[in-house]
Amino acid sequence: MSETKQYHINDIFYSLQGEGFYTGTPAVFVRFAGCNLRCDFCDTDFSLKETLTAGQIVSRTLSLLPDTTSSSASYRPLLVLTGGEPALQADDSLLDSLHKAGFYITAETNGTHPLPEAIDWITCSPKYAPVILKRVNELKVVYRGQDVESYYQHIEARHYFLQPCDLSSVSNDNPTTLRDTLGYILLHPHWRLSLQTHKLLHIP
Ligand code: SF4
Repeated sequence: MSETKQYHINDIFYSLQGEGFYTGTPAVFVRFAGCNLRCDFCDTDFSLKETLTAGQIVSRTLSLLPDTTSSSASYRPLLVLTGGEPALQADDSLLDSLHKAGFYITAETNGTHPLPEAIDWITCSPKYAPVILKRVNELKVVYRGQDVESYYQHIEARHYFLQPCDLSSVSNDNPTTLRDTLGYILLHPHWRLSLQTHKLLHIP
């Protein structure tokens, strides 16, 4: 591990995964600062808050786990690399350190940059920019009425989720509504619904 390398971090916290396949699962989140895209609906704070070495990140993540974690030898705590865009910073050195600490590492990416192969689970959430990833574990598309079948055809995944952009409105006037997303899924049942349950629950 290179202890001199600094990673730009926005936040490290412990909560429940709110979206997609691992919804409801306790997880440590490492939110990287910075993103290569500027989506108009983005409500994520990915500003730079601190710079940490891999060792410091591991120490921080382990300190957040409950004491009961070590009582099960087979349990691997879930860790979510997110952002911003984690592919801009996550590297083999950091992943090796987190694996040695026992974590099962997932990453949430916009798919525009390659990710290290050592990541255990990739969730790709395409935005307006071309996706270079061809195979992921989970494809999770924020549905705004766009053509999502091109993603389905060109990105191989085990799970395909559509997620409404805005849970606050169910008006038929707004193409980003929950009702429109439900309607689309009922007509195209190879998709499943993902909700941002952390927003419904008012947790981080
Ligand atoms: S890719 Fe994600 S983090 Fe980056 S601007 Fe878009 S919504 Fe925000």
